[in-house]
Amino acid sequence: MRSTVLLVLVTALGCTGTLSLDEARVVDLTYPFNRDTIYWPTARSFELKPVAHGVNERGQWYASNDFCASEHGGTHLDAPLHFADGGRSTAEVPLSQLIAPARVVDVRERCLADRDYQVSPEDIQAHEERYGRIPAGSAVLILTGFGRFYPDAKRYLGSDARGVAENLHFPGIGEEAARVLVERRVGLVGLDTASLDHGPSQDFLAHRVLAQANIPGLENVAHLDELPPRGATLIALPMKIEVGTGGPCRAIALLPPGVPRRIPVRTEPAPPSNASP
Ligand SMILES: [Zn+2]
Repeated sequence: MRSTVLLVLVTALGCTGTLSLDEARVVDLTYPFNRDTIYWPTARSFELKPVAHGVNERGQWYASNDFCASEHGGTHLDAPLHFADGGRSTAEVPLSQLIAPARVVDVRERCLADRDYQVSPEDIQAHEERYGRIPAGSAVLILTGFGRFYPDAKRYLGSDARGVAENLHFPGIGEEAARVLVERRVGLVGLDTASLDHGPSQDFLAHRVLAQANIPGLENVAHLDELPPRGATLIALPMKIEVGTGGPCRAIALLPPGVPRRIPVRTEPAPPSNASP
């Protein structure tokens, strides 16, 4: 497992020993941080304050910003500490869990029919029947198809009301499926929605089950529909916040040689079941 990941990275180095990544084989799984970035409705959004932007009194160009935001918004990591007392903090998550072979479990059809869909053990099993058992240490990425709505909060979250998290409608991972992923001893679980648990959840069982097993989450993953079901390598490196419960993350995937990007499917899902006017 580790040697496969290493091989992918070493082939990227080429014979000269200098890093020459084939851009066509890299998928950027990260949304930009800006005023449109999706945050949990009750969390602080991304704020950028310019400190300097121009030619200073010495005649030199100088630009610098301050930024402020919740740890949990945009493409970001959920450290186990987020939902488990004594769980690992952002800085404590081992790199071996952040650089890992990826499996992409496609549940788009189910989520098209039901915005509140919860991934079930059968979805994991259906993936394994086609692509083989999920190896320990894998990064399992759930493809709901909701990434196509980002950053339209009303369509992506089911509501664009800030400060209220009780009227959300988007798919997530069911408790039993989370338990199956713990059994498989996966290294990380991610998805293309704002939360590991589905929108209506108030008990956050998928978060809790995974966090208790020290499995970090990756939320608001971009362009997930460009990855193959297996063979890509995930590299998801969050800001190394000591005692962090998560953090903004630059996530990319390296595609295996000879495997083309998936052609994104563009079918419209069901409207929010109780959409606000
Ligand atoms: Zn989070």
